[in-house]
Amino acid sequence: MNLTKIGWIGLGKMGVPMAQNLLNANFDLSLYNRSKKALANFEDRKVTIFDTPKALLTACEVVIVMISDDQAVNEVFCGENGLLSAEAKGKIVINMSTVSAEISRKMAALLNENGNEYIDAPVSGSLKQATEGTLVIMAGGNAEVFDQLIPIFNCLGKLALRVGEIGAGNSAKLAINALLSFHALGLAEAIKFATEKGIEPSTLLELINNSALGNPFMKIKGDAILQDNYDAVFALKHIVKDLQLAKDAGINSPLANTALQAFTNAQSELGEEDIISIYKKLSL
Ligand code: NAP
Repeated sequence: MNLTKIGWIGLGKMGVPMAQNLLNANFDLSLYNRSKKALANFEDRKVTIFDTPKALLTACEVVIVMISDDQAVNEVFCGENGLLSAEAKGKIVINMSTVSAEISRKMAALLNENGNEYIDAPVSGSLKQATEGTLVIMAGGNAEVFDQLIPIFNCLGKLALRVGEIGAGNSAKLAINALLSFHALGLAEAIKFATEKGIEPSTLLELINNSALGNPFMKIKGDAILQDNYDAVFALKHIVKDLQLAKDAGINSPLANTALQAFTNAQSELGEEDIISIYKKLSL
């Protein structure tokens, strides 16, 4: 069975380009976003707008959720006119947000009771990869349901792997984002240290980018530091959320504890700026 009627919930930084990729691939797309402003990105496109998650799920075969955190997921699923209030059967909800495995298991069980399916499928990659359709997707849930979704995942990412049962995608994503936070802190500390030793940041970055440590993340975030541009691509508040989720799920390592503390300390001042704005808070 080809699934073509897709509903999208969450038109933030990631949601807008991801939804646009589905439209470009000729899926029949419907949208819901809590606030209306982001809908302007689709003004000249053929989309249907719904006022509630409930109405969206009723009208679509598959609904994709890409929203901030566990609290947002609770509201979109369990709130008045939330997904769980729809009298719908045989639907699939894909949650691509970075959230806890626990909330995935809870929402999956509630959807199953109503005769619907749930897959957690968070993504690695940021705005650039979302726009290019080259995200890395890690999914948890039933293998047959996952297989049905492959044509959708192929429009959004360059790799979609089922890593286990419900919540496994979330756990893999938290492991990756812990590593991401170490890279961000490490890059910021290396540039700070080199600068104090009289080495230009641009020189150090040229060395890093040509070494075995060079990677797209170092390049993009290094350029952001050079340009003093900390506009959020991946907001610092989101890495605090992810490190806290990882801690709640049992991570208790020197690097993860240090990263959580460093980003939490920066959150009130820099939460809406990019993760790499941590550079501005560092002293050696
Ligand atoms: P964002 O720009 O902050 O957008 C958040 C979205 O969630 C918006 O559509 C917002 O709606 C919606 N939302 C928040 N609270 C809500 C609530 N209570 N009820 C309904 N909707 C709610 O976030 P993003 O950067 O797109 O990230 C989305 C998710 O992907 C997060 O879990 C993030 O950790 C993850 N992620 C982000 C990146 C990245 O580089 N940005 C990369 C990988 C994964 P409004 O428009 O109404 O506020």
